[in-house]
Amino acid sequence: MSSKEIPYKIYLEESEMPQSWYNVRADMKNKPAPLLNPGTLQPMTAEELGHVFCDELVKQELDDTNPYIEIPEEIRKFYRMYRPSPLVRAYCLEEKLQTPAHIYYKFEGNNTSGSHKLNSAIAQAYYAKQQGLKGVTTETGAGQWGTALSMACAYLGLDCQVYMVKVSYEQKPFRREVMRTYGAKVTPSPSETTEVGRKILAAHPGTTGSLGCAISEAVEAATSQEGYRYVLGSVLSQVLLHQSVIGLEAQAALAKYDIVPDLIIGCAGGGSNLGGLISPFMGEVLRGEKNYRFIAVEPASCPSLTRGKYVYDFCDTGMVCPLAKMYTLGSGFIPSANHAGGLRYHGMSSVVSQLYHDGYLEARSVEQTSVFEAAEMFARVEGILPAPESSHAIRVAIDEALKCKETGEAKNIVFGLTGTGYFDMVAYEKYNNGEMTDYIPTDADLQQGFDGIPKFPGNEI
Ligand SMILES: *Cc1c(COP(=O)(O)O)cnc(C)c1O
Repeated sequence: MSSKEIPYKIYLEESEMPQSWYNVRADMKNKPAPLLNPGTLQPMTAEELGHVFCDELVKQELDDTNPYIEIPEEIRKFYRMYRPSPLVRAYCLEEKLQTPAHIYYKFEGNNTSGSHKLNSAIAQAYYAKQQGLKGVTTETGAGQWGTALSMACAYLGLDCQVYMVKVSYEQKPFRREVMRTYGAKVTPSPSETTEVGRKILAAHPGTTGSLGCAISEAVEAATSQEGYRYVLGSVLSQVLLHQSVIGLEAQAALAKYDIVPDLIIGCAGGGSNLGGLISPFMGEVLRGEKNYRFIAVEPASCPSLTRGKYVYDFCDTGMVCPLAKMYTLGSGFIPSANHAGGLRYHGMSSVVSQLYHDGYLEARSVEQTSVFEAAEMFARVEGILPAPESSHAIRVAIDEALKCKETGEAKNIVFGLTGTGYFDMVAYEKYNNGEMTDYIPTDADLQQGFDGIPKFPGNEI
């Protein structure tokens, strides 16, 4: 325990920002399984991946060995506009809970896109620009990734085409307009503009869309236009790598006050913020230097880690992407439309999946009304209006702090506050009106998703 008094916000100097990202795969004994070509079932080669992704990002995607990858100066320059982000001691929440625990959160909502996604958006846009491309295509669910990418592309002068999950496009017109303000072209998905979109619409008329489906459309758009590549806001190992800036800064801030975390908590959609936050700490555990507990928190309505299967699966509904080995609910799984958060992806980062499979990480699923209860308490005492996704981590941080109250343990709890919820007021409205429901898929619902998992020798469910 430190003798120095800990301030409300622990800031780093700009000069203390990380010079390199940390690649946790380098320290993993069991490397995440490689992406497979769905046609040949062989590992995807750099050349194959290069048709879809930028060359430098392909290198990062395939790099299982280099622990540190330098952050180019241009990206560091952009980071300085909104980083380093503060590590906040949640004194007011601790007092509200009357817990002996010390609660800290790394706040990533301090930029216009409102989330951590900008950390990877600027990196991916930068490498696209370096390669001399005209633009990038992508999908967005709740809209945070599309917004972040639009900002990054505007900064670098790249064209940006976003396929936005239809239900969000309709429910979140303001997000859409932010993206358009930054110059992006936004199309509701599934759409008639791609072959795969038309196919999905024919098979499921009236569908409100899903991330998996929007990915298929964005990939098709990238591969069918000259000078475009596809970029993805989560799930991929390169995205986890870029997000390690969160964990590296958190680690440096904690070290300033000799704080040793006991428990590190993050919400998990595709696993990028969680993976980024825990990476450097996980590295210490993997190298046998330290011991921390890590908890991934996911919605009970989309429980990939807690109820999914660890197998190779498609990353998208249209089955055009490589196969990834991950905890998955099946690429055809479409979570309930009433779910408020953006943690609606059917799969999980292969890095996070492998770490979970090897027992380095715990997972918990939480129901959305209890998530919004936590969000409301947090907003009232800490001031920040949290994103529904982030509030999953708040829920478990509060639960753990309350356990400390029972046991009298003064544990150090660190969680990732990934973003703000200003564009999620329809969800908050539902909660405030007492109209929010908790939808938990039945085993039979999940089985439908599992039935769509590709079957080949070695990939039995
Ligand atoms: C996208 C998003 C998430 C979930 O994505 P991960 O890749 O799992 O981090 C969490 N919080 C916010 C605010 C987001 O925008």
